Amino acid sequence: MKTAIYPGTFDPITLGHVDVVQRGLKLFDSIIIAIADSPKKDPMFDVQTRLDMVNATFAGESRIQVLNFDGLLVNLAQAHGAAAILRGLRAASDFEYEFQLAAMNRKLDADIESVFVMAREEYTFVSSSFIREISSMGGDVDALVPQVVRPYLPQAKD
Ligand code: ADP
Repeated sequence: MKTAIYPGTFDPITLGHVDVVQRGLKLFDSIIIAIADSPKKDPMFDVQTRLDMVNATFAGESRIQVLNFDGLLVNLAQAHGAAAILRGLRAASDFEYEFQLAAMNRKLDADIESVFVMAREEYTFVSSSFIREISSMGGDVDALVPQVVRPYLPQAKD
């Protein structure tokens, strides 16, 4: 039984995140989506709301567990017996940060592998920050977030 942990801020969850999870489910038996409190990022949604959105997105999916955390990721991975950390890559701009993060996590626990997947091309430009910005200016982002997330966002002006 191989489990991966997919950490992130998910402020809010997007179809890019969903695509990463779906790819992860092809590689692992189960995935724990770990929502970081990330107070330094000053999230738009509090952690409970982010949890609710992710839980609603994957309702009924028995291979997915959702939780929040504020400690060290490797500790969480160890506590759940996770073999890997799952992350997504969009463009080269993601690479440097992800490379440093993976190297640091490997320093902390050499037994946990970081695994990267690429979401579908049409999601390469999708980020939570883009969703927050566009929706707060009245833009329509419905096609880029799970349906259950739409009611949480400022409504598009038409
Ligand atoms: P963090 O604060 O940890 O970067 P995010 O929620 O922004 O949290 O992202 C979590 C992970 O999902 C990161 O590895 C990020 O690169 C990946 N990710 C986010 N959006 C996409 C996307 N559209 N395509 C591929 N990977 C993505």
